[in-house]
Amino acid sequence: MENRLVFIGIVPSAVLALCVCAVAGATPLIAIDVGHSLQSSGSISARGKPEFEFNRELAQVVWQTIETKGGRAFEIGADGKSVDPETRPLEASMHGAKFFLSIHHDSAQPQYLEDWTWQGGMQRYTDRFSGFSLFISRKNRQLAASLRCASAIGAALKKAGLPASTHHAEKIEGENRPWADQANGVYYYDNLIVLKNAKIPAVLLEAGIIANRDEEKHLLQPAVRNAIAIAVATGLDNCGMLK
Ligand SMILES: [Zn+2]
Repeated sequence: MENRLVFIGIVPSAVLALCVCAVAGATPLIAIDVGHSLQSSGSISARGKPEFEFNRELAQVVWQTIETKGGRAFEIGADGKSVDPETRPLEASMHGAKFFLSIHHDSAQPQYLEDWTWQGGMQRYTDRFSGFSLFISRKNRQLAASLRCASAIGAALKKAGLPASTHHAEKIEGENRPWADQANGVYYYDNLIVLKNAKIPAVLLEAGIIANRDEEKHLLQPAVRNAIAIAVATGLDNCGMLK
């Protein structure tokens, strides 16, 4: 069945088109949110690369991998112009998405960052932490499905040999996140806007820690990016979001 476009009104100051994609028996549509933007680019890697660039590169591979596995997905914010996180879950719903996956790369609290020189410039890094993290919000109205998918993605990442990081559970200011599923690297982060505002199951993935010098190099390897994308797609498949 062909998708149809209907106009639903002015939100906010722009006319948004609603894609009526939710046909009975259709493959669920997955919204892949590219974390941050060109203007507000997130954390900075150990070699000075903005997080947004890592997020955009990985999101594209995740999108292609989902489609290769027979799923359906589209990206939000890949052009770097989406500056308001409030609009991202809205955009996902407008397109009829059934799942919201936000792609990010991680850093650590400022007190752990140290100076070093890279290609003649001073940069900040920490080699203390490494690994992926997953977040869900208890304010999301589909918490059970969010947790089920986050756990499935975490399990697939670990099976692919990628470790989970525990540093967000440290009892310090800025961290102290409660575990939702420690075995699979899933934390609660109740007030994350993209998670709590989504009307569909929503998970945020920190794919790895780019402030770590070795992990940054690791995450830039196409084979590693592919392994992460395959694990994400496998997890989504295992929680029923790919068929
Ligand atoms: Zn981020």
